[in-house]
Amino acid sequence: MQHTIRQQDNLLAAAGFRGGSTTTGRTQNVKTLQAVVGVAVDGIWGPLTSAAVTELSANGWRVAANFRLQEFQCRCGGKYRDCQGIRVTPALIVLVQTIRAKYYPKGLVLLSAYRCPGHNRAVGGASASQHMYGTAADMTGRLTIAEAKACGARGIGYGRHSARVNHVDTRAVPATFVDGL
Ligand SMILES: [Zn+2]
Repeated sequence: MQHTIRQQDNLLAAAGFRGGSTTTGRTQNVKTLQAVVGVAVDGIWGPLTSAAVTELSANGWRVAANFRLQEFQCRCGGKYRDCQGIRVTPALIVLVQTIRAKYYPKGLVLLSAYRCPGHNRAVGGASASQHMYGTAADMTGRLTIAEAKACGARGIGYGRHSARVNHVDTRAVPATFVDGL
């Protein structure tokens, strides 16, 4: 089974991707989706990608026990031309699911995961913010720094006054930093 280009575009849109009008944007989106479904990440939508995406779609775009792909979508609402809609890495999905399962059985809301460059600027994000690469999430939840580390968070942002964690990411070199109040 192999989707036509039109079917691929419809599936990308249904998944929550945007910005597929440029070749680089579209290729990035296909790569993001391929990584999430666990097929070779080459940006070329072949039969294996078709099969895996069909299954994910039929599953309501559920990428982990308690998260759907759309929960990682940029909150700009499509305001910026270069917004990809979604960028997320499997490692981030594992991280937030681990936090959810271990500490928030009743629910964990992602307040901000992927941010396109325009939205990242608009919300005052760091110029090289992990959010732009799909490797970070801000969330409801009041983890301690030790708890976030125990869940595998590599970058940990915490409130200046609360000392509770509101940002986690999967950066290579661990860092703990003040992020908001
Ligand atoms: Zn955006």
